[in-house]
Amino acid sequence: MSPMVQFRSHILHNQIHTVKKEKVLTGDRATGQLHLGHFVGSLQQRVALQNDYEQTILVADLQGLTDNGHNPHKVSSNILNVVADYLAVGIDPQKTTICLQSAIPALSELTMYYSNLVSVARLQRNPTVKNEIAGKSFGGSIPTGFLTYPISQAADITAFRATLIPVGDDQLPMIEQTNEIVRKLNHIAQDDILVECRPLLSKVPRLPSTDGKSKMSKSMGNCILLSSGEKDISKAVKSMYTDPNHLAVEDPGKIEGNVVFTYLDAFHPDSAYVDDLKIRYQKGGLGDGATKKILEECLQETLKPIRERRDTFISDKAQLIEILRIGSEKSQDESNQVLGSVKRAFGLNLF
Ligand code: ATP
Ligand code: MG
Repeated sequence: MSPMVQFRSHILHNQIHTVKKEKVLTGDRATGQLHLGHFVGSLQQRVALQNDYEQTILVADLQGLTDNGHNPHKVSSNILNVVADYLAVGIDPQKTTICLQSAIPALSELTMYYSNLVSVARLQRNPTVKNEIAGKSFGGSIPTGFLTYPISQAADITAFRATLIPVGDDQLPMIEQTNEIVRKLNHIAQDDILVECRPLLSKVPRLPSTDGKSKMSKSMGNCILLSSGEKDISKAVKSMYTDPNHLAVEDPGKIEGNVVFTYLDAFHPDSAYVDDLKIRYQKGGLGDGATKKILEECLQETLKPIRERRDTFISDKAQLIEILRIGSEKSQDESNQVLGSVKRAFGLNLF
């Protein structure tokens, strides 16, 4: 290749690279305010990704209804809370499209088409759904929408041709399910009309609740919220599960399963300092009161500016609605195009 041709090809390559950014899609159920698990599990990554990727974030109100059909107010009243949380951590609507699941009809239509490609047995095998069902009081009456929500997530991901999904580890089975649907549909279409996706896990893919018993989760009410005030943070840290056998300060303590150290690893900016604390704790001579004090200071510092920003955003509801409206409108074309190609694959494109 001559140097001139090489130069042109280099420019062309760069142009293609800047025009066709990789697509990121992620979202949150509108079932409550966002918490520290969201922050380290996914939100921090989204803030970083928005500069180099084409990112869409979906407020999943329909998915929120799948276990709240009898209490829809829980979902409708939390939509703007979630948007305020996004803005508070630094998601910028100029860089990231923020949209509302129920305002994009193609997502529900795609769910309907994909449902024909997934068996009930496959849905029942999904470990996250299984776990969640066990933790809820559905009894024998599991809502159909709840069992099938992994299909609706596949619709969300594929509708935006997303290839990168920043999530916590509870979402890995959803990504696997999405890729199965993609392969089945491409086989039917005899063409690569949908793209497969991959997860992006953070260094804390599952932040435990403060009692260490389960994952921090909106629906379980075991959260430190991004909006939590100083007193609530202090109370939550004081109640944290540590090592039940670490009775006296001079006793050697255990790090594994000790929520205070899990949180210090997740939130403290100085990992060498945390490593040193771990050595001292394991040797004996460092009390739980002291480690909790260090953690509390760190969480107060992390959450104060987020809380203050959030207070400002939540006080302007009209602005939050406008952000969602613009983002949802922007999402119609692309999702309708994907829906069109799925309908064609099924031969349902008479007009
Ligand atoms: P719900 O209890 O209603 O399901 P949730 O707290 O589990 O709410 P979701 O809206 O289901 O939150 O999850 C949104 C995103 O945040 C997902 O990518 C999920 O993996 C991630 N996430 C949620 N909780 C945690 C956690 N404790 N640690 C790490 N990531 C989390
Ligand atoms: Mg969840």
